Amino acid sequence: MSRIYDALPIFGQNLACTFAGYSRIHSRYTRHFHRTLKEWNETIHYPIEDLHALQRDRLTRLVEHARMNVPHYGQIPPPSSAKDPFQAITETLSTIPPLDKKTYRAASETFIAQGIPKYRLNRGITSGTTGTALPTYYTPEALAEEYATVWRLRMEKGIRLMDSHLTFNGQSIVPFSQSEAPFWRHNAYGRQTLFSVYHMTPRNLEQYISAIQKSRAKYILGYPSALHLVGRAMIETGQTLPEGQVKAIFTSSESLLAFQRKTIEEAFGTQVWDRYGTSEFTVSMTECREHNLHVDMEFCIVEVEVEEETDDFVRGSFMVTGLSNDATPFLRYRIGDSGTRLKKPCPCGRAGDVFRDVDGRNEDFIVTPDGRMVGRLDHIFKNQTKILEAQIRQDSKEALDVLLVRDKLFDEKSERDLLNEIRKRLGNEIHIDIHYVDSIPRERNGKFRAVKSQIGQLAQ
Ligand SMILES: [Zn+2]
Repeated sequence: MSRIYDALPIFGQNLACTFAGYSRIHSRYTRHFHRTLKEWNETIHYPIEDLHALQRDRLTRLVEHARMNVPHYGQIPPPSSAKDPFQAITETLSTIPPLDKKTYRAASETFIAQGIPKYRLNRGITSGTTGTALPTYYTPEALAEEYATVWRLRMEKGIRLMDSHLTFNGQSIVPFSQSEAPFWRHNAYGRQTLFSVYHMTPRNLEQYISAIQKSRAKYILGYPSALHLVGRAMIETGQTLPEGQVKAIFTSSESLLAFQRKTIEEAFGTQVWDRYGTSEFTVSMTECREHNLHVDMEFCIVEVEVEEETDDFVRGSFMVTGLSNDATPFLRYRIGDSGTRLKKPCPCGRAGDVFRDVDGRNEDFIVTPDGRMVGRLDHIFKNQTKILEAQIRQDSKEALDVLLVRDKLFDEKSERDLLNEIRKRLGNEIHIDIHYVDSIPRERNGKFRAVKSQIGQLAQ
């Protein structure tokens, strides 16, 4: 946030938010967006064979473009010409070496497509937990197509483009030093109220709740951790919203944990719909009524590097291929997240790849005394519903601290169960201290991290 913005009076900041909202809407919701959304609202009903045919066409086009215009991909072979689409996809991908974050970091400029006019190159950043984020570029079409996946989900829940809504994301729209309400700003053009996730102290939450109570927003967007915090305060003070007043809540950016979902749905009187996406335009998954995450097959291909396999699922790290971004194509990119893909089609009826869960979004590893790096530890909390908030911290290999905000129902057995879950993953050697606390601080970007390790930060 700029100093100029900070110095503006609140009505000036509201105007600035409105202006930013205006330009956001016009860059996202272009003609290409509307055309794509219309098309993808039909392709979502395609059977698997047709989805593969569509993917094959998009992959072939992208690989040809990358071979011609992207220096890093100059040497990859031409796409497969196999007749069967799925076979062609598999063959084409198998000839492309997986891409690690390190490789990208070392030569990120060789990933930028040549020949795209400057005005069509928008600058983005890579996602990541540590170190500096690296620049990437994206075309207006990539942005429009990403929002087509977002809006396909929202429209399915009865939301329309210009409906009023509340957001609880990481934007710094309220100066940090401000100590009195309002801790939100209005974007009048986009019919949006932006709440600050940096001012959510127990004292201030009362103000948030009364603003939420007064609003007649149709839907709510935000980080699970922030919505959970305000939702919990709503329940504790008996100020939940009447059922159905808000049509839907859409979460993204962090793993949505079971206890968060439960609290948010109870507080706001409506269902939560989760989406998994990343800032590189490489992957998009949207939740269905079975609480599974469906790959938006038109937008990306998600491969799993198998670490575990049963009759029902494969689990492992992702290699993602974004099909929409010509500016910085990422092919078979090891994004650092992992998940569990189901082998059977989802009972909801939507075809295509479907995941039971996605892990490791912005989580560190825990290092055990014998030197193992253990990731995906947010999983420990995934099915715990008697915990209000939890964080694992580690400063040395020998020990870790677990910070817990308890529910009233949390008892000795819950503590034993939780310790068991941790021991199952980390062994008996590591020393574990559980601390019961009233709240857990957020990161500087407003996000909540379930696992924080000084020595096990995710290597990039
Ligand atoms: Zn489904």
